[in-house]
Amino acid sequence: MSLTIKNRIYPWGHERRFNSYSSYFRKHFGTRVQKVSIDAGFTCPNRDGSKGTGGCTYCNNDAFNPSYCMPEKTVSMQIEEGITFHKKRYRKADSYLAYFQAYSNTYASVEVLRNLYEEALRYPGVTGLIIGTRPDCIDSDKLALLKELSGKCYLAVEYGIESCYNKTLRRINRGHTFEQAEKAVIDTAALGINTGAHFIFGLPGESRDEMLEEAGIISRLPLKTVKFHQLQIIKGTPMELEFINNPSDFQLFTFDEYLDFFIRFIERLNPDIVVERFTGEAPPRFLAGTLWGKKRTDQIVALIEKRLEELDTWQGRLFPIKTSFN
Ligand code: SF4
Repeated sequence: MSLTIKNRIYPWGHERRFNSYSSYFRKHFGTRVQKVSIDAGFTCPNRDGSKGTGGCTYCNNDAFNPSYCMPEKTVSMQIEEGITFHKKRYRKADSYLAYFQAYSNTYASVEVLRNLYEEALRYPGVTGLIIGTRPDCIDSDKLALLKELSGKCYLAVEYGIESCYNKTLRRINRGHTFEQAEKAVIDTAALGINTGAHFIFGLPGESRDEMLEEAGIISRLPLKTVKFHQLQIIKGTPMELEFINNPSDFQLFTFDEYLDFFIRFIERLNPDIVVERFTGEAPPRFLAGTLWGKKRTDQIVALIEKRLEELDTWQGRLFPIKTSFN
């Protein structure tokens, strides 16, 4: 690694101090690509009674589902409206990725899944699929389908893992264990499928030490990409009620605390893992609890990069050294 800060090129091949998704995407596609979200009408096993009811305690899909996503519309209609939506916002793209985002998008038979995914891929300009799902909604037949499709187009699977601790997964009613998540990630990545995961920081019952320790656990998984979110309490969820009744159970991050925490976290994160998101961004009208004011995602990324530069640190600087928060 070069010694001059200005010209330092990091292991991921550029000067930004973290392994950024936008750079990875640019390198991978060599062109502008836009994701278009789809709600294909799935549910989740911890909602429909097969593993539980009520869903994850923090979840309200409406808080992140774009307005054009409605399960009553076909996949093609949602893609058409999604492309129009992005064009109106001057988001120019040469091709599109169909993002099966809402709920658990592998929670159906292989035949149903094949029809939905292939409908998306037939839409002009769609060159790939991103499929968000739960670790317990995958099996060898579904993986075989994903493997087959990934030979024809860009395909990524994103697993909601949320926490590396089973005590937390139980508390938030995920309905699966961390070991199931680990297995799903390992099995998917072993087939050469791009494998991603989501994690939430600030879940009740977890100390900041424990959250920091997750950097080491996540670093050992064969993940291509990760999305991190700070816990946001969404109105109307079971967690809002829990928060109202027992606020001392929650240690919600202020923005400054999160900035400090995230710098320490990313220093310990495997530099091979591409970071797609540092924070979540639910619309303010959905939020209860700590608010961060009007900060857009791009502004937050800029502030994190500025802090990394001030501290002259970067993703993976302390990897694989395991250290405590204190
Ligand atoms: S698995 Fe995802 S969509 Fe389903 S209840 Fe949990 S957070 Fe919501």
